[in-house]
Amino acid sequence: MVWASADRPRGHSLLLNRAKTVVHGIFLKGESPLPNSKSTNIIMSKLVILSGAGLSAESGVATFRDNNGLWEKHRFEDVCNFHTWQQNYDLVHRFYNQRRVQLGTVEPNAAHRQIAQWEATYKTVLLTQNVDDLLERGGCKAIDHLHGFLTRMRCFACGNRWSIGYTAWQEADRCPAEGCGNRSNVKPDVVFFGESAPVYSFLWDTMKSLERGDVLLVIGTTGAVLPVDSMARNANCIRILNNLTPSTEINDRNFDYVFYEPATKAIRKIDSLLKQTLGRPSDSAS
Ligand SMILES: [Zn+2]
Repeated sequence: MVWASADRPRGHSLLLNRAKTVVHGIFLKGESPLPNSKSTNIIMSKLVILSGAGLSAESGVATFRDNNGLWEKHRFEDVCNFHTWQQNYDLVHRFYNQRRVQLGTVEPNAAHRQIAQWEATYKTVLLTQNVDDLLERGGCKAIDHLHGFLTRMRCFACGNRWSIGYTAWQEADRCPAEGCGNRSNVKPDVVFFGESAPVYSFLWDTMKSLERGDVLLVIGTTGAVLPVDSMARNANCIRILNNLTPSTEINDRNFDYVFYEPATKAIRKIDSLLKQTLGRPSDSAS
């Protein structure tokens, strides 16, 4: 992303100070919930959560950007390239096998479980760039995986998709669809670089649908793949950002509330914020 000079953040310390000011502004002033939050603005307003690798990193899921973007001396972009994956078939499957098997050894964290609680409480749309199943295991019901699903395979010969759980795709394995049995066209059902991402149209529609009173919550994404920065700038709603550290791809002035800390730590503050802005439907029923 290219910064307009006027938009360029003036150093991390300023960003951090400003973020701290914002956070203190919310909590130290002891603001009471917005007027009428129990009777209005509850049913119609929605919460849109867009999550990324940072959310699952605390569970021990390795992010694509670890190790300087390299894996076994290969660039990640080459391991996950739609135009070359069949030429690098064994390498590609080895890479995803390792991730899939590892996924079976990790657990959802408090942030995954908190998101499930928000989903149960508010009118919520869950969008994630993560290919792991930790939101599902944390109790979330309806998640749109923008970049596919690690425990699922896809056969381009017959169109079949199926779950292989946390197992490796091995040499004897074939597409299980009746009459198919293909191997060379079987790929992890993860969106590769250069591959179309069908769920993106739902993402753009969701962003367009955001209106005053809604909340956009971005968690654990550096904005390297999705234009999080412009999404937030164009969203006419309350915008919350939670990342471990500032990212050069995101101008946090495009967010109303910024938390630079682990998601598992930020969730309590974000929860208070959501109660203030979206209200608590369960309260209004009593
Ligand atoms: Zn097949």
